Amino acid sequence: MINETAYNLGSCRSCIRELFEYGRQRAEVVGADNVFDYSLGNPSIPAPKEVGEALEAILRDMDSLEIHGYTTAIGDLQTRQAIADDLSRRWGNVKAEELFLTCGAAPALTAVFHALACPEGEILAIAPYFPEYRPFAETAGLAFRVVPPDVPEFQIRLEAVEAMLTPRTVAVIINSPNNPSGRIYSRETLEKLGKLLKEKEEAYGHPIYIVSDEPYRELVYGGREVPCVRDIYPDTVVCYSYAKSLSLPGERIGYVYVPSCAREHQKLYAAIAGAARAMGHVCAPSLQQKLIARCAHLRPNLEAYDENRRLLCDGLRAMGYEVAEPEGAFYLFVKTPGENPEDFYQRAKEKDLLVVPGDGFGCPGYFRICYCVQREKIERSLPVFRILMEES
Ligand code: PLP
Repeated sequence: MINETAYNLGSCRSCIRELFEYGRQRAEVVGADNVFDYSLGNPSIPAPKEVGEALEAILRDMDSLEIHGYTTAIGDLQTRQAIADDLSRRWGNVKAEELFLTCGAAPALTAVFHALACPEGEILAIAPYFPEYRPFAETAGLAFRVVPPDVPEFQIRLEAVEAMLTPRTVAVIINSPNNPSGRIYSRETLEKLGKLLKEKEEAYGHPIYIVSDEPYRELVYGGREVPCVRDIYPDTVVCYSYAKSLSLPGERIGYVYVPSCAREHQKLYAAIAGAARAMGHVCAPSLQQKLIARCAHLRPNLEAYDENRRLLCDGLRAMGYEVAEPEGAFYLFVKTPGENPEDFYQRAKEKDLLVVPGDGFGCPGYFRICYCVQREKIERSLPVFRILMEES
């Protein structure tokens, strides 16, 4: 017998992956230059040069057995210390023993969801949300409940959160800067959310954790603030990845941060380690751990993304598109023009312009553009967007 849920997850590819594959096929037919593929969030700026230099130095100077050997399951102390030092410089007081190294943000999230899953447990996600949250949560045994989007501001509809919280709620998952909206939750929004959750914690007599998924924390434009959620609401767990900030998505390195201010933090940390173990986590890649020990302090040069962001945002607005002001990450979330969004996506696809419908993010009637592409591609795609608008 084969597990049906697993079979369904494995055989129905995500809409994003499907579009990406379609783009590849079209590239073979019409040439890669003629496909405007805005589907996948694969960084388009190279990793900082210090990353390459550090890798060379590690391979040259360190003992091969040490570079490639198993590490402890929680990760090398040196690496966790480097991350703790980097976080402490901006947030203050982060300790190496509060960090658990993972193979990126996705395994960090699955370990946290499994650690929090209790019978009948529920998790709230705020639309628009990263679609993988649903299979991660449901596979952990949590009921996945979606708070409707706060259109067009893309902050959080607190009255909806309040109405959806129940004594079974174990966590609220947030993601800011947000994929797909590119918006950052303001300090005011987070403070209101924190206040609400605190009241409910008291009423229900158990913690409701905020799981803060922050792979885009360093991708911020115009000097905007990404507030430290832990300092607003202590029962917070942070999931992080170096995939986007250091352009290392295939290298699989990230962490969970369980701050000691969070309720039952030691038990929660142990449960995360246990959940990861049960899902086959042995350790994060050893070479990447050595790399992060040297590079945790590096920040990306966002100039190219910023240029793309302005070019697209200003260009589309001038054509009459309604665009959520992009503040972070590398996504633009656009209201689909016309009466029939499906028709728009179909026409776009026929013109080899691949954008992701908002339905999968819990926000129909919008579409996502990943602007981590070459600038020249954006320039050539603008006339296609114009035609699509004129046809709508
Ligand atoms: N969370 C969000 C919001 C993402 O956009 C992504 C990847 O795109 C992930 C988590 C997964 O990140 P990772 O590749 O580190 O597993």
